[in-house]
Amino acid sequence: MAELRPPIESGAPDPMPYMHPVMVKNYGKWSFHSHPKPGVLYHRAESGDEIWTVKAGTARQMDHYTIRELADIADQFADGFVRFTARSNIEYMVADGSKVEPLIKALNDKGYPIGGTANSVSMIAHTQGFLHCDIPGTDASGVVKALMDELYDDFVKCEMPNRVKLSTSCCEINCGGQADIAIIVQHTKPPKINHDLVANVCERPSVVARCPVAAIRPALVNGKPSLEVDEKKCICCGACFPPCPPMQINDPVHSKIAIWVGGKNSNARSKPTFHKLVASGLPNTAPRWPEVAEVVKKILATYKADGKPWERMNDWIERIGWPAFFEKTGLPFTKYHIDNWRGGRANLNASAHIRF
Ligand code: SF4
Ligand code: SF4
Repeated sequence: MAELRPPIESGAPDPMPYMHPVMVKNYGKWSFHSHPKPGVLYHRAESGDEIWTVKAGTARQMDHYTIRELADIADQFADGFVRFTARSNIEYMVADGSKVEPLIKALNDKGYPIGGTANSVSMIAHTQGFLHCDIPGTDASGVVKALMDELYDDFVKCEMPNRVKLSTSCCEINCGGQADIAIIVQHTKPPKINHDLVANVCERPSVVARCPVAAIRPALVNGKPSLEVDEKKCICCGACFPPCPPMQINDPVHSKIAIWVGGKNSNARSKPTFHKLVASGLPNTAPRWPEVAEVVKKILATYKADGKPWERMNDWIERIGWPAFFEKTGLPFTKYHIDNWRGGRANLNASAHIRF
């Protein structure tokens, strides 16, 4: 009998070979940690071993010269070990305390800011954008870099009431996740259908099933099988565009940007929360998004001035209340902030079935 082929295990790789040897040796046996200065963490193990972590901001999408430069710095100061965080910061682990300041200097000299720890504004978690995804309504890395240029001081200093996590999403439906401040593409018009292409490109039943408000129906247009959208029902979510690119929803004028605040994944101090819409209809002026930057900076400045120590954005808003949030930030409260769409409860596709 032929030998059975062993299964191929996929998933997250074993992290141990990539971990600094001091971390491997003391894995799960740490006695305490502290935060000596912005961008630097200190851990001491029960064995007495020590390790410092230095966090630097990067531009996320990097050319190989930049990656080699960062790797050379790791070889020189951090025994060749680095790791990237979910928010695209690079972390160097150093077992010798005397190397921390030279490492910081080497990174600063090359233009990498040190920060993003504790009560600072961390690097923005951002999605793939035009580089890797086929449905974005705006760019990701470019606009995130532009926005972080504006928030540089808040990254390198720990002056916020608590940590601030930002995220961007270049469509309305997929990656991005909950954040203290989330910047999300917002389509404002239903998709435009290119009926000549639908029959060749789209699997129509899956597109119909994809719509959360049942606004799509099969239709015969000019003698060809196609689809039609009931525009009164359509909530402009964009969910039909990925499985059916001829249902184009991205638009240079009508795809806007919305800002949501108060989302939180962790259950530290208070339970996890969903973020809520606070600004909508901002122009999608990539690559520098000046209008978005202005609103984000306004929210951050108000939170910084009014938040109590260790209050996360959602805790602060809960304490002062939403009317005070709009009053203090000066953001207009409009009818678009009220979710009074009564059809939602009955029609929204809220089942637990997975759809593709
Ligand atoms: S947020 Fe949407 S458009 Fe952007 S990378 Fe994720 S799936 Fe693609
Ligand atoms: S944009 Fe969303 S709501 Fe509108 S037709 Fe497409 S899937 Fe349905």
